[in-house]
Amino acid sequence: PQTEDYYGNVNTIGPRGVYDEAKRFQESITMAYHTFHGVETRIVRIFNTYGPRMRLNDGRVIPAFIGQALRGEDLTIFGDGMQTRSFCYVDDQVEGIFRLLNCDYVYPVNIGNPDEITIKDFAEEIIKLTGTDQKVTYHPLPVNDPLQRQPDITLAKKLLGWEPKVGRAEGMKITYDYFRSLSQEELQKEEHKDFSGFIH
Ligand code: UDP
Repeated sequence: PQTEDYYGNVNTIGPRGVYDEAKRFQESITMAYHTFHGVETRIVRIFNTYGPRMRLNDGRVIPAFIGQALRGEDLTIFGDGMQTRSFCYVDDQVEGIFRLLNCDYVYPVNIGNPDEITIKDFAEEIIKLTGTDQKVTYHPLPVNDPLQRQPDITLAKKLLGWEPKVGRAEGMKITYDYFRSLSQEELQKEEHKDFSGFIH
Protein backbone atom coordinates (compact mmCIF):
# COMPACT_ATOMS: atom_id res chain seq x y z
CA PRO A 1 0.00 0.00 0.00
CA GLN A 2 1.35 3.38 -1.05
CA THR A 3 1.41 6.20 1.48
CA GLU A 4 1.77 9.87 0.59
CA ASP A 5 5.42 9.98 1.69
CA TYR A 6 6.50 7.58 -1.08
CA TYR A 7 8.70 9.50 -3.53
CA GLY A 8 8.09 7.17 -6.44
CA ASN A 9 10.25 5.11 -8.75
CA VAL A 10 10.06 6.18 -12.37
CA ASN A 11 11.99 5.26 -15.48
CA THR A 12 12.36 8.71 -17.04
CA ILE A 13 13.08 7.36 -20.53
CA GLY A 14 10.58 4.48 -20.66
CA PRO A 15 7.40 4.63 -22.78
CA ARG A 16 5.42 5.84 -19.72
CA GLY A 17 8.14 8.31 -18.72
CA VAL A 18 6.47 11.45 -20.04
CA TYR A 19 3.17 10.53 -18.38
CA ASP A 20 4.74 9.71 -15.03
CA GLU A 21 7.06 12.70 -14.98
CA ALA A 22 4.24 15.03 -16.06
CA LYS A 23 2.25 14.03 -12.98
CA ARG A 24 5.27 14.56 -10.76
CA PHE A 25 5.92 17.95 -12.36
CA GLN A 26 2.33 18.98 -11.70
CA GLU A 27 2.88 18.39 -8.00
CA SER A 28 6.19 20.27 -8.08
CA ILE A 29 4.83 23.31 -9.90
CA THR A 30 1.70 23.33 -7.71
CA MET A 31 3.81 23.35 -4.56
CA ALA A 32 6.08 26.03 -6.04
CA TYR A 33 3.08 28.28 -6.74
CA HIS A 34 1.90 27.68 -3.20
CA THR A 35 5.21 28.41 -1.45
CA PHE A 36 6.50 31.18 -3.73
CA HIS A 37 3.32 32.98 -4.80
CA GLY A 38 1.07 32.00 -1.89
CA VAL A 39 -1.52 30.47 -4.21
CA GLU A 40 -4.13 28.34 -2.45
CA THR A 41 -3.56 24.84 -3.80
CA ARG A 42 -4.44 21.18 -3.17
CA ILE A 43 -2.74 18.03 -4.44
CA VAL A 44 -4.80 14.90 -4.93
CA ARG A 45 -3.21 11.56 -5.83
CA ILE A 46 -5.75 9.69 -7.91
CA PHE A 47 -5.49 5.94 -8.42
CA ASN A 48 -7.44 3.80 -10.89
CA THR A 49 -10.93 5.27 -11.30
CA TYR A 50 -13.92 3.98 -13.25
CA GLY A 51 -17.59 4.49 -13.97
CA PRO A 52 -20.14 5.21 -16.69
CA ARG A 53 -19.03 7.28 -19.71
CA MET A 54 -15.48 5.94 -19.83
CA ARG A 55 -14.41 5.67 -23.46
CA LEU A 56 -14.73 2.14 -24.72
CA ASN A 57 -11.44 2.19 -26.57
CA ASP A 58 -9.12 4.21 -24.38
CA GLY A 59 -7.04 1.13 -23.62
CA ARG A 60 -7.79 0.93 -19.92
CA VAL A 61 -8.62 -2.44 -18.51
CA ILE A 62 -12.27 -1.88 -17.52
CA PRO A 63 -13.59 -0.58 -20.86
CA ALA A 64 -11.30 -3.05 -22.64
CA PHE A 65 -12.73 -6.08 -20.80
CA ILE A 66 -16.35 -4.89 -20.98
CA GLY A 67 -16.02 -4.04 -24.69
CA GLN A 68 -14.53 -7.46 -25.37
CA ALA A 69 -17.34 -9.20 -23.46
CA LEU A 70 -20.00 -7.19 -25.34
CA ARG A 71 -18.44 -8.08 -28.70
CA GLY A 72 -18.07 -11.75 -27.72
CA GLU A 73 -14.28 -11.60 -27.82
CA ASP A 74 -11.81 -13.20 -25.43
CA LEU A 75 -10.52 -10.99 -22.61
CA THR A 76 -6.91 -9.91 -23.10
CA ILE A 77 -4.78 -10.22 -19.98
CA PHE A 78 -1.38 -8.54 -20.17
CA GLY A 79 1.42 -10.44 -18.45
CA ASP A 80 0.49 -13.29 -16.10
CA GLY A 81 -2.42 -11.31 -14.63
CA MET A 82 -0.88 -11.33 -11.15
CA GLN A 83 -0.37 -7.55 -11.19
CA THR A 84 -2.85 -5.77 -8.95
CA ARG A 85 -4.99 -2.67 -9.23
CA SER A 86 -7.48 -1.02 -6.85
CA PHE A 87 -10.48 0.52 -8.61
CA CYS A 88 -12.39 3.50 -7.22
CA TYR A 89 -15.92 4.28 -8.38
CA VAL A 90 -16.16 7.80 -9.81
CA ASP A 91 -18.78 9.12 -7.34
CA ASP A 92 -16.51 8.20 -4.41
CA GLN A 93 -13.57 9.77 -6.20
CA VAL A 94 -15.40 13.05 -6.79
CA GLU A 95 -16.63 13.20 -3.18
CA GLY A 96 -13.06 12.70 -1.92
CA ILE A 97 -11.67 15.41 -4.20
CA PHE A 98 -14.47 17.78 -3.21
CA ARG A 99 -13.78 17.30 0.49
CA LEU A 100 -10.08 17.90 -0.06
CA LEU A 101 -10.89 21.09 -1.94
CA ASN A 102 -12.87 22.29 1.07
CA CYS A 103 -10.15 21.77 3.64
CA ASP A 104 -6.86 23.64 3.93
CA TYR A 105 -4.31 20.82 3.64
CA VAL A 106 -1.78 21.60 0.89
CA TYR A 107 0.26 18.38 0.79
CA PRO A 108 -0.56 15.32 -1.35
CA VAL A 109 -3.55 13.21 -0.32
CA ASN A 110 -4.34 9.77 -1.73
CA ILE A 111 -7.93 9.48 -2.91
CA GLY A 112 -8.68 5.97 -4.10
CA ASN A 113 -10.23 2.67 -3.15
CA PRO A 114 -7.82 0.32 -1.34
CA ASP A 115 -9.74 -2.81 -2.35
CA GLU A 116 -6.99 -4.53 -4.34
CA ILE A 117 -7.48 -7.29 -6.92
CA THR A 118 -5.27 -9.12 -9.43
CA ILE A 119 -6.10 -8.53 -13.08
CA LYS A 120 -6.64 -12.28 -13.49
CA ASP A 121 -9.31 -12.37 -10.75
CA PHE A 122 -10.80 -9.19 -12.16
CA ALA A 123 -11.20 -10.83 -15.57
CA GLU A 124 -13.10 -13.67 -13.86
CA GLU A 125 -15.36 -11.11 -12.15
CA ILE A 126 -16.13 -9.48 -15.50
CA ILE A 127 -16.98 -12.84 -17.06
CA LYS A 128 -19.40 -13.55 -14.17
CA LEU A 129 -20.87 -10.04 -14.32
CA THR A 130 -21.54 -10.16 -18.05
CA GLY A 131 -22.81 -13.74 -17.90
CA THR A 132 -20.72 -14.60 -20.92
CA ASP A 133 -18.42 -17.57 -21.19
CA GLN A 134 -15.49 -15.67 -22.62
CA LYS A 135 -12.05 -17.17 -22.30
CA VAL A 136 -8.98 -15.19 -21.35
CA THR A 137 -5.87 -14.88 -23.53
CA TYR A 138 -2.43 -13.85 -22.32
CA HIS A 139 -0.32 -11.14 -23.99
CA PRO A 140 3.02 -9.50 -23.19
CA LEU A 141 3.05 -7.09 -20.26
CA PRO A 142 3.57 -3.49 -21.43
CA VAL A 143 7.00 -2.06 -20.54
CA ASN A 144 7.14 -0.54 -17.03
CA ASP A 145 3.60 -1.70 -16.20
CA PRO A 146 3.39 -1.36 -12.39
CA LEU A 147 2.99 -4.73 -10.63
CA GLN A 148 1.07 -3.40 -7.66
CA ARG A 149 -1.19 -0.44 -7.12
CA GLN A 150 -2.99 0.15 -3.86
CA PRO A 151 -3.55 3.47 -2.12
CA ASP A 152 -3.17 3.77 1.64
CA ILE A 153 -6.04 6.12 2.52
CA THR A 154 -5.36 6.53 6.26
CA LEU A 155 -4.66 10.23 5.75
CA ALA A 156 -7.84 10.90 3.74
CA LYS A 157 -9.92 9.10 6.37
CA LYS A 158 -8.43 11.18 9.17
CA LEU A 159 -8.34 14.50 7.36
CA LEU A 160 -11.57 14.36 5.39
CA GLY A 161 -13.65 11.72 7.18
CA TRP A 162 -13.84 10.13 3.76
CA GLU A 163 -13.68 6.59 2.50
CA PRO A 164 -15.18 4.90 -0.56
CA LYS A 165 -18.78 3.72 -0.20
CA VAL A 166 -19.39 1.95 -3.51
CA GLY A 167 -17.97 -1.58 -3.65
CA ARG A 168 -16.62 -3.05 -6.87
CA ALA A 169 -19.65 -5.32 -7.42
CA GLU A 170 -22.07 -2.37 -7.23
CA GLY A 171 -19.88 0.05 -9.19
CA MET A 172 -19.10 -2.45 -11.92
CA LYS A 173 -22.78 -3.30 -12.34
CA ILE A 174 -23.64 0.37 -12.89
CA THR A 175 -20.70 0.69 -15.30
CA TYR A 176 -21.63 -2.45 -17.22
CA ASP A 177 -25.29 -1.32 -17.46
CA TYR A 178 -24.06 1.94 -18.96
CA PHE A 179 -21.99 0.23 -21.65
CA ARG A 180 -24.83 -2.19 -22.36
CA SER A 181 -27.26 0.70 -22.81
CA LEU A 182 -25.22 2.16 -25.66
CA SER A 183 -26.83 1.59 -29.05
CA GLN A 184 -25.07 -0.63 -31.56
CA GLU A 185 -24.31 2.53 -33.51
CA GLU A 186 -22.65 4.13 -30.50
CA LEU A 187 -20.68 0.97 -29.78
CA GLN A 188 -19.58 0.91 -33.38
CA LYS A 189 -18.59 4.57 -33.27
CA GLU A 190 -16.59 3.98 -30.11
CA GLU A 191 -14.83 1.06 -31.73
CA HIS A 192 -13.59 3.21 -34.55
CA LYS A 193 -12.01 5.78 -32.31
CA ASP A 194 -8.38 5.04 -31.81
CA PHE A 195 -7.01 5.97 -28.44
CA SER A 196 -4.25 3.40 -28.57
CA GLY A 197 -1.64 6.14 -28.60
CA PHE A 198 -2.73 7.25 -25.15
CA ILE A 199 -0.96 6.07 -22.06
CA HIS A 200 -3.23 7.52 -19.41
N1 UDP B 1 -4.52 -4.67 -18.78
C1 UDP B 1 -4.81 -5.96 -19.24
N2 UDP B 1 -5.55 -6.09 -20.39
C2 UDP B 1 -6.06 -5.03 -21.07
C3 UDP B 1 -5.78 -3.71 -20.60
C4 UDP B 1 -5.01 -3.57 -19.45
O1 UDP B 1 -4.38 -6.96 -18.64
O2 UDP B 1 -6.72 -5.24 -22.11
C5 UDP B 1 -3.73 -4.53 -17.54
C6 UDP B 1 -2.58 -3.54 -17.66
O3 UDP B 1 -1.42 -4.17 -18.18
C7 UDP B 1 -2.42 -3.13 -16.20
C8 UDP B 1 -3.84 -3.21 -15.63
O4 UDP B 1 -4.57 -4.03 -16.53
O5 UDP B 1 -1.59 -4.04 -15.50
C9 UDP B 1 -4.53 -1.86 -15.50
O6 UDP B 1 -4.33 -1.18 -16.71
P1 UDP B 1 -4.95 0.25 -17.00
O7 UDP B 1 -4.37 0.69 -18.31
O8 UDP B 1 -6.43 0.21 -16.88
O9 UDP B 1 -4.42 1.18 -15.80
P2 UDP B 1 -2.93 1.54 -15.27
O10 UDP B 1 -1.94 0.59 -15.87
O11 UDP B 1 -2.71 2.96 -15.67
O12 UDP B 1 -3.02 1.34 -13.79
